[in-house]
Amino acid sequence: MRFLFQDKRVTVTGGAGFLGRHLVRRLESCGAHVFVPRRRDYNLTALDACLKCMLEHPCEVMIHCAAYYGGIGINVAEPANLYYTNLVMGANLMEAARLTKVGKVVNIGTACSYPGYLEGELKEDDLWAGACHASVVNYGLTKKMLAVQAQAYNKQYGLDAIHLILTNLYGPGDSYNPDRSHVVAALVRKFVEAEIAGAPTVEVWGTGTPVREFIYVEDCADAIVLAAQTYEDVAMPLNIGTGFGTTIRELAEAVSVAAGYRGKILWNADKPDGAMKKVLDVTRMTNALDGWKPPTDLASGLARTIAWYRDNKSEADEKW
Ligand code: GDP
Repeated sequence: MRFLFQDKRVTVTGGAGFLGRHLVRRLESCGAHVFVPRRRDYNLTALDACLKCMLEHPCEVMIHCAAYYGGIGINVAEPANLYYTNLVMGANLMEAARLTKVGKVVNIGTACSYPGYLEGELKEDDLWAGACHASVVNYGLTKKMLAVQAQAYNKQYGLDAIHLILTNLYGPGDSYNPDRSHVVAALVRKFVEAEIAGAPTVEVWGTGTPVREFIYVEDCADAIVLAAQTYEDVAMPLNIGTGFGTTIRELAEAVSVAAGYRGKILWNADKPDGAMKKVLDVTRMTNALDGWKPPTDLASGLARTIAWYRDNKSEADEKW
């Protein structure tokens, strides 16, 4: 049966972040009363703060969207921070949710949780079919543990939960800091700045051969709301993506053109490629969401993202 958000109290952790902001807007347009815990009020890595948050703001649904995350650079630089923050935050939030009898938990997971060395598109059934890619293992495993915890809590306490596995996001409000950013935001900033400066070359990391899948952030927020309304299988995660792969070389060329850049791309193969392919199989998603597909193709998403970045450059550049 379809769950309706009208007049429901929903807590969105990370609701002031990149994806979270879009998600909150979408939930409010469905009539939900959304609470967003802020770090200065609730340190969600501590159980007592998670409990305080749930007791002060009781909710029917908790969407756990908060994460300390980023691209391949931060995974190399801060593996311990990624590990500790995400693991402890997830564990404590779910414990607080069951102690305060939250009706449903929606966990936001990541494609980094998948085995990193499989061929072909990544299917939900294959989540445990191998080791995560070494470049993202810390982040990937912490999010995977959310799925484990949800199943354990469902068995022992009857907690209602679903686990959504998101592919790479991009769009307005992302992190454009080169030490943290994922590839789309990194390339948007590099090519826009090179176009403005008239720079003859732009350096792009790796060989250009890895394949990634990119979903526009607003489409992803829509998919999360739809999944929260319709998907109920605690034992089976649900992929959220486009199902469409793009090589980093194709992406770099597309961003370069969309930014109006006329110089040359230099490939720095000393930088890591990461997993060679990360593309989700979206068959289950399409069935679960009644045929829904992300409406924004990469070209229009990039055009919107670049326009936003140009209009908000100084603010975007300052954000971590
Ligand atoms: P991943 O999807 O977890 O591997 O994370 P990223 O989005 O950071 O990287 C995706 C791919 O883009 C990797 O093959 C990177 O080497 C490549 N890439 C190319 N240029 C850049 C860049 O400037 N920044 C980042 N983060 N990745 C880049």
